[in-house]
Amino acid sequence: MQNNNEKIKILEKSISEISEMLDRKEISSVELTKLVLEQIDEIDPEIKAFITVCKNEALEQAKEADKRIINGNRLSKLDGVPISIKDLICTKNIKTTAASKMLADFVPAYDATIVERLKNAGAVIVGKTNLDAWAHGSSTENSDFFTTRNPYNLDYVSGGSSGGSTAAVASNMGFASVGTDTGGSIRQPAGFCNVVGLKPTYGRVSRYGIVAMASSLDQAGPFTKTCEDAGILLEVMCGHDTKDSTTIPGKKFQANKIQKANFKNQNDNIKLKDLKIGLPKEYFAEGLDSRIKERVIEKVELLKKMGAKVKEISLPMTDYALAVYYILQPAEVSSNLARYDGIRYGYSVANDKSQILSIKNLEELYLKNRGEGFGDEAKRRIMLGTYVLSSGYYDAYYKKAMKVRTLVCEDFKRAFSEVDAIITPTSPTLPFKIGEREQNPLAMYLADVYTVGANIAGIPGVSIPVGFIDELPVGLQILGPMWSEELILNIGKLIEDRRNK
Ligand code: GLN
Repeated sequence: MQNNNEKIKILEKSISEISEMLDRKEISSVELTKLVLEQIDEIDPEIKAFITVCKNEALEQAKEADKRIINGNRLSKLDGVPISIKDLICTKNIKTTAASKMLADFVPAYDATIVERLKNAGAVIVGKTNLDAWAHGSSTENSDFFTTRNPYNLDYVSGGSSGGSTAAVASNMGFASVGTDTGGSIRQPAGFCNVVGLKPTYGRVSRYGIVAMASSLDQAGPFTKTCEDAGILLEVMCGHDTKDSTTIPGKKFQANKIQKANFKNQNDNIKLKDLKIGLPKEYFAEGLDSRIKERVIEKVELLKKMGAKVKEISLPMTDYALAVYYILQPAEVSSNLARYDGIRYGYSVANDKSQILSIKNLEELYLKNRGEGFGDEAKRRIMLGTYVLSSGYYDAYYKKAMKVRTLVCEDFKRAFSEVDAIITPTSPTLPFKIGEREQNPLAMYLADVYTVGANIAGIPGVSIPVGFIDELPVGLQILGPMWSEELILNIGKLIEDRRNK
């Protein structure tokens, strides 16, 4: 239909723009979906963002959307819009692998609540994206299948664990994606790939049907090109779910409020009356790439010019947050991964007739199934987790970490009594080269130093694109108190700075 330039121009649009085109019938959902599928065919062999592409299902969903559009029954701004889903989130009749050998052939019989809600809003699901197996990692290098490449430089990682999702949105293979964030897996890869990534308040979005990593930290959220689009997805995904008792009833989020919350938007001359921004000194200290610091400060200066008040604050527990995370998270991981034994479902050596006869007893079967089905990183976390939970060390590690978790929460509470929102870099470094940190798990864990706090405290955080350094994307993080998604997306909207690829 179009030449390549026209095609890319369409694929680069935001959801709110493409939604208007669909409303005006300038393009149909089937045409749009075909363009996205063509783009995947063309680009993905290089980027490797997708584990599964659902061509037929997507075209069917698009056809249905077109019927509704023609009849004037469009369900939402997402109706007919192609998006992708991290392969940690269950999709009925479509393989959901968690990027692990253990679940390589697992086909769920049901949709996760968020998938059901996205489908009910008319979203077209084009495929399932790559991740670090079980969401353990910061680069997708821990995927049991392959590593996703950064679309801005193929030698670099796309971040993780949701690196497939961010690479897909960044390279126009769908208008949005949905991922999960346990310690930064939405915000860090968003920052690495020039997209917006929102981790909602804990309890805002249902976790039902999402392969659990660390249940007290996990939240699902959107990847989009703009903050406004993130609001469109969050509005559809959020809300109480009887299947997840940690979701909170009565908390509404309305995307159309994105322009109005908490501060006055007077004509084009934006005045941020009464908005107080905090810069935590611990997040601008040693270890931060000075060029990233400069870029973040430039954006803060912009907010100041609009009238925001900016002050330095302190989050004294920052140093301990990463340690708390790397105790509590593996503890919960070890418990959540205990269910994968290959007996009921998942990888089993017993499926191989030549092996089954050599297995002497049940214990050996468990050992072999889990030994072969889990990769190194999952094993590392299971060992750390069972260690900190073991009777001899529970008090010294797990219990103590739980106490420090409370202190981290209090840190943020105190901060939010002084300021409305906090701005930090999303990551201390630019995207790193593929392979660079593979042999050094500790260096990899340090990539999460600015993001884990929000998960520990359950507060929302968004990473927005703020340009490039050395042709690699830079992310800026905005944190707010619980249930302040409207506010942080509004602030993000004022300073987001995305350059099309
Ligand atoms: N990178 C962090 C980890 O490896 C966070 C992962 C996540 O948020 N899923 O634990």
